[in-house]
Amino acid sequence: MCARERFDLVVVGAGPAGSATAISARDRGLDVLVIDKATFPRDKTCGDGLTTGALRSLEHLGLELDALPSYATVRETVLVSPSGRTISLPHPPTGQYAGVVPRADLDAALVELARRRGATVREGTGVDEVSVGPDHATVTLSDGRAAEAPFVVAADGHFSAVRRLLHPDAPADLGSWHAFRQYFRGVDDPRLWVLFEEDLLPGYAWVFPLPGGRANVGFGIPRGPGVDGKTLKATWLDLLERDRLRTVLGPDAQPEDPQRAWPIPAQLEPARLTDGRVLFAGDAASVVDPMTGEGIAQAFETAIAAGAAVAGGGDAPAVGARYRRAVERTLGADLRLAARLQRVLGSAFWARAALRTVDLTPWTRRNFARWMYEDYPRALLLTPRRWRRGMFTGPGAYRTA
Ligand SMILES: Cc1cc2nc3c(=O)[nH]c(=O)nc-3n(C[C@H](O)[C@H](O)[C@H](O)COP(=O)(O)OP(=O)(O)OC[C@H]3O[C@@H](n4cnc5c(N)ncnc54)[C@H](O)[C@@H]3O)c2cc1C
Repeated sequence: MCARERFDLVVVGAGPAGSATAISARDRGLDVLVIDKATFPRDKTCGDGLTTGALRSLEHLGLELDALPSYATVRETVLVSPSGRTISLPHPPTGQYAGVVPRADLDAALVELARRRGATVREGTGVDEVSVGPDHATVTLSDGRAAEAPFVVAADGHFSAVRRLLHPDAPADLGSWHAFRQYFRGVDDPRLWVLFEEDLLPGYAWVFPLPGGRANVGFGIPRGPGVDGKTLKATWLDLLERDRLRTVLGPDAQPEDPQRAWPIPAQLEPARLTDGRVLFAGDAASVVDPMTGEGIAQAFETAIAAGAAVAGGGDAPAVGARYRRAVERTLGADLRLAARLQRVLGSAFWARAALRTVDLTPWTRRNFARWMYEDYPRALLLTPRRWRRGMFTGPGAYRTA
């Protein structure tokens, strides 16, 4: 019989959701084991973009982004509408409202932080089996050991191994979006570009700046009829030849690595947030913003809520209900509104109209940037409990007139 260790919480996956769950639970005094099948630093196919919401969570967790040499603060965002109109959104000179950092470095730093906070972190360790009993769950690890805890947080990404082990017969989920990414060097533009190409709508292409003339370049689109691996690859190659993207990249841009693709799960279903003694966080909980495809801030929100829910104590129904309530309170209305807006932005007419509206006045530009970067919640207008004095006129994180 293999050795069995006991913890207050076992976290499977040490991406943003897993490390943040561990930090949140450690800060509340729990004894935490985190496992990840990868060894850090490891790449994760991502745009590497951090919104104001993600930056705030990182500050709350205690990660010093400025200490990472590969971190770039974004000072200006440029949107390109389907008609080619460009809208410039310079950020305030003080503070940080958006940033870009390769996930290899961000995730390794978060794993290290979780370790420093006292979590037991085992890299290169996968999960072979999960069994849930009346008062604890047991995770059999790929190294032959077994870990037991009252609760497990599955933060193991889009293809959640824990979910598959619990429900081996469930159909495979290909995700709501699919996105491509490739690193380039020789890009001499420090601005963050979002290009709304007509045939990608409501998806978009991006050029996100990194230090040293590097850039993270990619595109994402919702999955639908006719969108498969072959068409996506053809779209990517075609996109790289388009004048708009070539102009942003400049004449010296060279790819650094092969392009990589990965699904994006953006369909919040409250019933899938919990499964007895297992709570799902981050991509494993499908909490990516369905309008932008951004999921790092949402991974942090669910992770912090999961750590708090387990630390709050109680049986599985009580902890599960606490977690689902917290996710609903912080993300529910925002993700539902984003899903509705995504459908509207699928039309070139409405996308052009929306971007014309954004560009009307300094006030509309400023508030759009604040909204886009999650400086205030997406569905703020629809949720009076979050209203506060000066919510649109105050400086917020994004102050430029
Ligand atoms: C191309 C692309 C671009 C994107 N751009 C952005 C962006 O710019 N900004 C943004 O906010 N979001 C972006 N996203 C979304 C973002 O990448 C995800 O939402 C985010 O990574 C979710 O974090 P997570 O911790 O939930 O999952 P992940 O980052 O996927 O981490 C899951 C972890 O679980 C581990 N794991 C998996 N299986 C096992 C197992 N069996 N045992 C142990 N460990 C396991 C993995 O090794 C991994 O470390 C993008 C996504 C894609 C695909």
